[in-house]
Amino acid sequence: MRIRPDLASAPGYVPGKSIPGSIKLASNESPFGPLPSVADALSRQAELLNRYPDPAGLELTAALAAQVGVAPENIVLGNGSVTLLQHLIQATCSPGQSVVSGWRSFEAYPLLARNVAAEFAAVPLADEAMDLGAMLAEVLRLEGTEHPAGIVLVCNPNNPTSTTVGRAALTAFLDALPRDLVVVLDEAYREFAGEDFADGLTLLRRADGSARENVVVLRTFSKAYGLAGLRIGYGIGSPQVVNAVKTVTLPFSVNMLAQAAALACLTPEAQSEMRQRVKETVVERARLTEALHSLGLPVPHSESNFVWLPTGEDTAALDTFLQDNRLVARPFPGEGLRVTISTPEENDAFLRAMTAWVARP
Ligand SMILES: *Cc1c(COP(=O)(O)O)cnc(C)c1O
Repeated sequence: MRIRPDLASAPGYVPGKSIPGSIKLASNESPFGPLPSVADALSRQAELLNRYPDPAGLELTAALAAQVGVAPENIVLGNGSVTLLQHLIQATCSPGQSVVSGWRSFEAYPLLARNVAAEFAAVPLADEAMDLGAMLAEVLRLEGTEHPAGIVLVCNPNNPTSTTVGRAALTAFLDALPRDLVVVLDEAYREFAGEDFADGLTLLRRADGSARENVVVLRTFSKAYGLAGLRIGYGIGSPQVVNAVKTVTLPFSVNMLAQAAALACLTPEAQSEMRQRVKETVVERARLTEALHSLGLPVPHSESNFVWLPTGEDTAALDTFLQDNRLVARPFPGEGLRVTISTPEENDAFLRAMTAWVARP
């Protein structure tokens, strides 16, 4: 078969496992169902499914623009923010160019690069966080080569280590990069971050008020809004970048139910329901982190809906131990384990298992 030879031996995306009868803490999903008001909007919309969705998503785009305080031409919708990432890489990288990112980060990044025959330039994390200085150095090194960097991905907070990069460091990074190099701020967990978070929306302009036209912020309804199964996210950026993404987007890729649900998420009522849920997760995050610290485990401060256990060589054994206790986390063998924060009951089950783990002979 004449399939691209570079794909033949390539690994696929490894999703978080679902094991019937076990508690799933493997995919950073919300433990809550969709917001009640969103479920109502979905059932009303279901009656219109004989029609195609609005390909431009005009109503949702306008509502998002108003909510985040930009113009509609600064917004692009996607079938999940992973799809937007793919489109951004497609729109920026020619074969052989590099996607520059910190690593370890989101498992999808290298696979999305490979899909368009781009290289993935993995810059090691420092203290479990993206090392912006080293990433800048990598971009500048590539500038002098045949294949300059095509795009830079900053996952903030970073999946799977849960850490953030600070405002001063991120601002200096953006200021030092070439102004025509697209930089993605992947903020899938933004809603769970604290007040000091370097919100990408505030970085779309420089201190002098001029637009950073190369920066695009990605947000999703998959995590805090509990709509991972519906597939919808959006990007906020300059019309140049937004239009480039639209150029490579497949027609009708954001389905009608997803558009209706996302719109319903933006009402004041839904927003306050979402914020209440996030608060509960943040309270549980603090409780879980403290309990893990008191077990002697060096869990980094999390700004997301998961915690990172840097268990190194013990990771595979811990993963097996947890599965024996009917808990499914996300192992990165040799590095660590990512555990999604869930309900108090499920978190208690996880803490009981961890207590038994550290007490094992
Ligand atoms: C979960 C996640 C996303 C969201 O993906 P969707 O396609 O919107 O579900 C994006 N980036 C990161 C880093 C994530 O962890």
